[in-house]
Amino acid sequence: MDPSAVQEVKKPDQDLSASNTEESDEEKKLNATCVSALDMILESLSKIRFFLNAYWLDYVNHSAPPKEILRTFLLNNLSLTHPLEANHLLKLFLNILELLPRCYSHFEVDEVAKTICFRCKMNMAYSSQRSYGIIVNADSLRVYNSVFVIRAFETTLKIIRLNVKMLCDKEGCGKRNYVQRVINNLPTVFTIALQWENNETSCDIFSTVAALETEICISAICRYEGDSLYTKYRLVSMACSHGDQYNCIAYENSRWVRYFGSEKEVN
Ligand SMILES: [Zn+2]
Repeated sequence: MDPSAVQEVKKPDQDLSASNTEESDEEKKLNATCVSALDMILESLSKIRFFLNAYWLDYVNHSAPPKEILRTFLLNNLSLTHPLEANHLLKLFLNILELLPRCYSHFEVDEVAKTICFRCKMNMAYSSQRSYGIIVNADSLRVYNSVFVIRAFETTLKIIRLNVKMLCDKEGCGKRNYVQRVINNLPTVFTIALQWENNETSCDIFSTVAALETEICISAICRYEGDSLYTKYRLVSMACSHGDQYNCIAYENSRWVRYFGSEKEVN
């Protein structure tokens, strides 16, 4: 199976926050698709309770609506002059979080990979890896989901992740082993990004969406060694592409709604 089917979300390399400072007004002409993506990410974030709380603390003394203040701040500090490349919605999302340090830590997942070497029996704990949720390849999700009898979304994610092997630390051993991912602290928000090939048919998209679930238990994806009894995460909102624009689907007042531009559609 393809080990790249699921990856941890890492911080973006590029510091977009500084990139606008030297651009002229003409160069700063914003790309409509990119702005649409920003708006829908903001819409999506606004559905997360903790985000609203942290965010209000920053803007409580301002007279303008906090959402507008934040949008203007991000428009001025993000690079939004070029169309988003395929699957770069996540990168934009991470750049937004980088500009909001009060919120960033709530999305962090600190994972340690542990295993016992199958050949030399040595116990190993690899250095911790900090990520911001996981990226799942949509094609792999469809394939795994169709192959296994148990089709729970969280089980599929666990199986995909189990297929990534790591090299034994002991000198001369050379064995690659399956590892168990261990976390001690729960992120406030667990982010899952779907990576598309961009040649999917409507049938493929339907199969992918059918494999998703609105609730997952993080302890089914990795081993949780903390004290909290509350390890379930419920889907609150998501941003996704819609032609050359973006939309946001959110769970609101016990129903699903779709935001598209300034419009809101109740399903
Ligand atoms: Zn070994």
